[in-house]
Amino acid sequence: MNCSHVEDKLDFYLDGELPTGRINKLERHLEDCVDCRKLLEERKRLNAIISSSDPIPSVPDRFVEKTVTRAGFGAARQRPTPLFRLAVAASLLLGLLVGLLGSRQLVLQFEQEAIAEEETMMAGEFFGLPEPEDDPLAVYYFSLSEDNNQGVEE
Ligand SMILES: [Zn+2]
Repeated sequence: MNCSHVEDKLDFYLDGELPTGRINKLERHLEDCVDCRKLLEERKRLNAIISSSDPIPSVPDRFVEKTVTRAGFGAARQRPTPLFRLAVAASLLLGLLVGLLGSRQLVLQFEQEAIAEEETMMAGEFFGLPEPEDDPLAVYYFSLSEDNNQGVEE
């Protein structure tokens, strides 16, 4: 058995899955070969590490509490009293209602302003121009254009 054979069989040897005949040959090689003995020790250490560590690292004690405390919730250890929770819930609900009403009021205000603006434009007051019948110059101008139109038609 040479070194590469031993390397191939080491894991089976350590797991106790090697036939007795092979075990004897392997152990004889190990007695003579420093490199394979080193390799064996390395594999043993590795196996020890793997078998000793949990598949999932455990969470330290009171990890959640400490994290929450560090995050700025100083009173995390004390569970909030029912009254406190009620107060929080009430204030949240109030805030929500105020927000809804406020936004609804804002929408209504915008709608009213838009309607008022439209009415202003329709009334011809948007550009601050006087109504034509109130302005002698405009009346004169319109009368001219009416005359011209009549002239074209004839
Ligand atoms: Zn060897």
